[in-house]
Order: sequence, then C-alpha cells, then structure tokens
Amino acid sequence: MSTPLIRLEGIGKTYRNGELATTVLRDVDLDIHDGDFVAIMGASGSGKSTLMHLLGCLDRPSTGRYLFAGEDIAGLDSDQLASLRSRTFGFIFQSYHLISSANATENVEVPAIYAGQPREQRHARAEELLTSLGLGERLGNRPNQLSGGQQQRVSIARALMNDARVLLADEPTGALDSKSGEDVLQLLKDLHARGKTVIVITHDREVASHADRLIEIRDGRIIHDSGRRQPGAADPTPGISSQATRGESTATFGDTSEAVRMALRALRANLFRTVLTLLGIVIGVASVVVMLAVGNGARQEVVERISDMGTHLLIVRPGAPNTRRSADGSTNTLTAEDAAVAATIDNVVAAVPEVQTRATVRAGNTDAQTSITGTTAEFVAAKSWPVANGVFINDEDNRRYAAVAVIGRTVANNLYSDRDPLGEYMLIGNVPFLIIGVMQEKGATPWGQDQDDVVFVPLNTATNRLIGSRHLSNISVLIEDLQLSDATQEAVRQAILANHAGVEDFQIRNMASLLENVASTQNTFTVLLGSIAAISLLVGGIGVMNIMLVNVSERTREIGIRMATGARTRNILQQFMVEAVVVSAIGGAIGVVLGLGFAGMLQYFGTAIQFTPGPVLLAFGCAFATGLIFGFMPAHKAAHLDPVVALSAD
Ligand code: ADP
Ligand code: MG
Repeated sequence: MSTPLIRLEGIGKTYRNGELATTVLRDVDLDIHDGDFVAIMGASGSGKSTLMHLLGCLDRPSTGRYLFAGEDIAGLDSDQLASLRSRTFGFIFQSYHLISSANATENVEVPAIYAGQPREQRHARAEELLTSLGLGERLGNRPNQLSGGQQQRVSIARALMNDARVLLADEPTGALDSKSGEDVLQLLKDLHARGKTVIVITHDREVASHADRLIEIRDGRIIHDSGRRQPGAADPTPGISSQATRGESTATFGDTSEAVRMALRALRANLFRTVLTLLGIVIGVASVVVMLAVGNGARQEVVERISDMGTHLLIVRPGAPNTRRSADGSTNTLTAEDAAVAATIDNVVAAVPEVQTRATVRAGNTDAQTSITGTTAEFVAAKSWPVANGVFINDEDNRRYAAVAVIGRTVANNLYSDRDPLGEYMLIGNVPFLIIGVMQEKGATPWGQDQDDVVFVPLNTATNRLIGSRHLSNISVLIEDLQLSDATQEAVRQAILANHAGVEDFQIRNMASLLENVASTQNTFTVLLGSIAAISLLVGGIGVMNIMLVNVSERTREIGIRMATGARTRNILQQFMVEAVVVSAIGGAIGVVLGLGFAGMLQYFGTAIQFTPGPVLLAFGCAFATGLIFGFMPAHKAAHLDPVVALSAD
C-alpha cells in the first residue's frame, strides 16, 4: 500500500489556559490518502475543528506524530509550515472568513500573493476561478455585497487558488440554506472527481453521506471509521521538501508595491480613522517645517543686518568694560587723539571718530528732531555705507569747521519730500548747513531703529559749533584681516590704555564675535522651536501606534485568514509595518506641503522665512521613521499571533 498523504499517529491536543487544561483530542490514529473524500462527523464540541486545524497544519498536536507524505512535520518551523499550508491545503470555513475590505477577486488572490505569483497571472486566475464557480458577475463585489452561498463559493475559489491538493472544509454548508448547501457539496464532489483530496467536517449525517468515507468522532476520539471505499490514487505523493521549496524564492512577498497596495486598501476601508491618524503626523510635520523656516529666517535676517553694519569693525566706546554707557560726564573719556593712535595700529585700515547728539533740523517751514553725527571722511569706507547723491564730508571740511551736512534718506524725505536736497541749506539748531550729499538708504537696525534718520557733519564742526565738547561717542576701527581681529583688538586696547595713563575707562566691542554670539543665540532659538515641533511629531507617532494597535486587534481574524492561506510571520509583519509607514509618509507629505504653504503665507505677510531643504527632509524623514518605530510593536504583535487563535477571534 502506498504512503498515505497524511498520517496521524496517536495525536492528542490539550489546550491550556493558565491552570485550566482541556484535552480535546485523544489518541487519534488516521490515514488519509491522496484523492480521498472523507467526512469527519461528530456533535458540536466533539473536536472536529481542532482536528481540522491539525490536519491543515494550522496548529501543532500536543502529543503524537503528524506525517505528511511520510515525513514528520514536527521539525518544521512556523514559516515552513506556512509554506506547506500555502502549497497543499485550501481551507473552507463555515463563516467563509473573507477579508471584508477586499473584493471577491482580491480575496481569491490572497494565497497567490504569499506564494509569490505575479500580479497579472494571479489576477487572471482568480477571475477565471470565480467565473467557473458562477461568480463572473460578482468579481468586484465586497463580501457584504454577496449572499452566503456566493461568499462560500468565493472562499472555495480562494482554497483552489494555489492548486491545493487537499481541501479542508469545516462545516461548509452550516451557514447556508439547503439549496446553496447542495450547490457547495456538488462543487466539492466535482473537485474530488477532478483529483482533489477533500475532507469535509460536519455534524450533519446527510452532508456526510456524500463522502466516500465516514469518520465519526466523539469526545475527541474516533469511534467509527467506515474505511476507504476506493483504492488510493496511483500517482506517487511528493514529499514536504519538494512541496515546500516550490516557489520558495519568490514566496517572500518581496514585492513592496503589493504591500503598499494592500495597505492603501486597508487604510481606505477605515477612512475617517485614517484621516485622524494622518492629522497628528500632518500637524507635527507642518509645525516642524514652519518652525524651522521661521527660526532660520529670523537668524538669517539678524545675521544679515549685523553683517550690513560691518563685521570688520571694532567699536570703541567710552566707559569701563561691562558697564553701561551713561549720559553723564563720567564716561566722557574718548577723544580724537584716541582715534589717531588706534589708526596707527597694524591691521587697522581706519579709525573713525564719531560724536552724536540730537537736534532739531529745519528747512523752510518743516522741522524734525533727528540724530546728528559728527565724523570724518573715512566713515563711508568703515561702515560700508556709501553716499547716494552728492559727496561725503572730506578732510578739508573737517579742518575748516565747514558747515556742511550729508543727510540720511529719512531726513531728506521729512524735510524735502519730493525736492532734491542737494545744494539746499538747513538749520541745525540755529546754524545754517549746506547739504552736500544724501546717504544711501540703510533700513532699520535689528532692534528696529531707523538708521536713515541721521545727519552727518564734520567732526570738528560738531564738537565746536553744535555740541561744545570734544568727547567722542565712539570710535569705529576698520580692520583689514578678520583672522587677526582678536589680536588687533588687544593692540588697540593697549594703545588707548597707554593714552589714558593706564585707566581702562573705555570698552571695545568686536562685531565679528558679536555676530557669532547672535547667530548662536538664534540657533538655540531655532533648535528650541524645532524641538517643540518635534514633540508634536512624537505625539503624532504615538497616535499612529495607537491606531495600528486598534487595527491589529480589529483585524485579528483577517490576520488568521492570511496565515491560513500561507502568510508567514514576515509577511504579516511587513504588511502592518507598511501600513504604518504609508500613513506616516502620506501624513508627512501633506504636512510638508501644508508647512511650506503656511510658511509662504507668513512670508507674504512680512515674516522673515528661510526655506531650506534640510528641515523639510528632516521632518519628512522623521515622519517616515515614526511610522517604522511606532508601527513595529503592533506589527510584531500581529505577526506572532497563533493562526488558530487569530481565526477564532470575533
Ligand atoms: P467542534 O468543531 O467539533 O464543535 P472544537 O474542535 O471547536 O469542536 O472544540 C472542541 C472542544 O475544545 C470544545 O469543548 C471547545 O470548547 C474546546 N476548545 C476549542 N478551542 C479551544 C481553545 N483554544 N482553548 C480551550 N478550549 C478550546
Ligand atoms: Mg467546529
């Protein structure tokens, strides 16, 4: 006699729930040959389904041996079992166990996906199978759009998809009216006639009578076996290894696009929840993009404005270091001689003295309060601030105490509005000054002061005719080589110190290091903004995890179905990971677009914004990683479910 396809030797099954152990099958010996048509009959609770799960390698026995084509399956790991299932068994369940979010064709295709069949091929085969079962008109219908009989035929088509040799039907007619039930039985008989091994489980003697061989089971024991009516099929039975390795290399579900398609379908099936999940990621990513664009924009603006003031500058001010400059005489310590000695230091291009006061200026009937600066010809070079019209003060003007003035754009606008100020006279206090130039517009300082609201006059003119004191407000020292700025600063300090008989009643500020400080402060600010935004992304990620966990528990049965049709641990893992990543990536993409849009809007309304690809990529990358990280736990949970437990979930 030939090797039976399936041989059970002394099989027992005991379920353990903590302390409680329920023995469901005891000492079952059973041979099933290729081409058999067997009915397993018994009352409800007698252990039929348990036996079917064991026969179909969905579960492992507690005791005894299961030989498939003569080889013990005890040595196979869960993936090898999955592969054996996928190639050999087709399951048909009482409650059909179709995936509700997928249509008839997609349901039928599932086993072929895990077997690695190419898309077009399996699509064509699924449609062909469904059409041959009379469902040609219902290919695109979801399970809830089909009658019970139609759903059962879909599940039969699915069982046939991978050309299974053994069809295991657990109460296939249990949920059907008698007509549909008969149709299904006729179908199983036809399949048997075409060479399939069919095992039908039922509690109904009428159903069982269609089979060639009747096995009765009670309380987990076989109490009757009618024996085989026909001799077994003559063809030799391929063993596990040849079974399991067929298509192994392509059965890894490496086709990520397939996983993405399945993920999109699952996400669409629960659109509202998907949108809510997306929202968390969208808000997180959008805020990262906006915050970093605003932060970088603010830094860029401050840096630009400070750079405008000149980075090659040392500013010498009166007053001891680390004290605030006060208006009283105690800080009137800088003089033009200090500027002169500073100008002699190496690496110093020019040392420009400045005095400042406020005064009322008047032209015709118009007057204005403005700032008056007395300075020398080098001012223009030192501050990189050119004259727009006319000329600046020259050395000759200074020597002669000339009453000439160069005015800023704001003063020009205030006093002369649309007229050309050049050649006009204006009063500063009571002294008439000839306007010889108009400065280029400079804009506001980072702290918002209008730099164009200013009048320049020769230093000597200012000290003698306007202020009456020869003390300077500051000296701007222009340096040549920025690398040497610290050494130059120290040399200038020493020179002025010598001039002040060793009393350090002045301070020097280095614009280059100021710029560095401000830039790093702004960086901190940007990082802070970015972190706040990142926290919302984290919250979004937790949302994703939460939804995926709900997803897994809701779709436990679907996971069981997929496992019964040949999905391995990694297929399930991949599917749920891909779902999490797809949600996060879609959310990330929408977030980036929204964030850029919002930042663009802010820019339109005047906020300084800097768009750089860095933060955008960062935010999107974070969203993607969020999906991976927070999706892993739920996916891992799903992938390690027991197929039988998963199938029986409600
Ligand atoms: P049948 O399909 O013949 O109605 P089952 O094989 O489903 O019977 O169940 C047989 C017995 O095993 C029942 O008493 C049932 O309560 C028990 N049983 C089934 N599955 C489990 C399980 N996972 N844990 C504990 N007991 C179980
Ligand atoms: Mg049952």
